[in-house]
Amino acid sequence: MQAKIPFLDLSRFPDTLQKELKEKFSNLLEKGIFSGSEEVEILENNLKKYLRAPYLSACSNGTDALEIALRVLGIGQGDEVIVPALSWVSTAEVVILCGAKPIFIDTNSDGLMDLSLLDQVYTVKTKAIIPVHLYGKMVDMHPLMNWAKSKNIKVIEDVAQAFGAFQNNISAGLFGDIGCFSFYPTKNLGALGEAGALVSKDKGLADKIKAMINHGQLKRDDHVMVGRNSRIDTLQAGFLNTLLPYFELWQKQRKSLANSYLKELKSLDWLTLPEGVENSTHNAHLFTVQCKERDQLKNYLEENGIGTTIHYPSIIPKMKPYLVDQNFPVSEKITSEVLSLPLNPFLSQEEVYRICAVIKSYKFK
Ligand SMILES: *Cc1c(COP(=O)(O)O)cnc(C)c1O
Repeated sequence: MQAKIPFLDLSRFPDTLQKELKEKFSNLLEKGIFSGSEEVEILENNLKKYLRAPYLSACSNGTDALEIALRVLGIGQGDEVIVPALSWVSTAEVVILCGAKPIFIDTNSDGLMDLSLLDQVYTVKTKAIIPVHLYGKMVDMHPLMNWAKSKNIKVIEDVAQAFGAFQNNISAGLFGDIGCFSFYPTKNLGALGEAGALVSKDKGLADKIKAMINHGQLKRDDHVMVGRNSRIDTLQAGFLNTLLPYFELWQKQRKSLANSYLKELKSLDWLTLPEGVENSTHNAHLFTVQCKERDQLKNYLEENGIGTTIHYPSIIPKMKPYLVDQNFPVSEKITSEVLSLPLNPFLSQEEVYRICAVIKSYKFK
């Protein structure tokens, strides 16, 4: 039996990086700094520069970022917010937490919200839309922004999976009013715990975001609004500063491994491969294939020591707390056919070839 290939193994950080992370921890422990500090400012400046974002605030996690975005844009009771039927649950969860109603929209076969359905889901109560750049692939933002402008509604981009994706040289998250990032450990840029960020292009909005993250204060003890505590942890900011210099190299590795998958698997007519992974509008976060015998293929890979994940086994409007009596045929089909293959910078070229060989040996009925 050959060694197992896990879907993602974060203990595979290179030795030099592990050493740098330990040093960062020792350093902060010695200084006794565990909240705020220059580590957070450095991170915000680093991220701002990489994303070319006019304003950026780091925060506690991606879900809080989305909820804060809705709150500072004044979305609440009586309002409707358009969200894709297929996403991580946070996208719809935050809408309900704010007192508004998620209106689900079906997706295209790539899992991204189907823009041709926008007019069908729009009502006079629609106040915002949350496009999700699922699997790391960007929604086509120009038509979406034109439509949103024509309806005068706010756009919040869920960029949790798409850090590093750019459309016409503009980062995902900087098309809409607010962009929300997550640095959850499994994302392309992942902390060693929970973290997130919000970007915006408007100073007034950016100030509100900053205040909302920190109890409604921009200056200590000057509470100008009702806020909350969604501050980023100093340790996580420090770890992200240590991880950031590796990001571009890791992106190259992801793209190269994704290209190997595409080359090796293109001859299989029973397997649908993801489109656009090699483009700049995709950050190669997940390599998600589609197959009618998904569960059998997943088991077969498991038997051969290869870990895979399903993103996601259910659409949100079919989950009990979000139940809607309506069909979303395309995204529902996706939930029964998608399978994410291992794709991360800690995977070797040889491992990808072995995964492909196992997939090619699968007997499709
Ligand atoms: C990860 C993720 C989130 C939530 O981010 P957290 O940092 O885990 O709170 C939101 N939306 C999508 C699409 C995600 O993948």
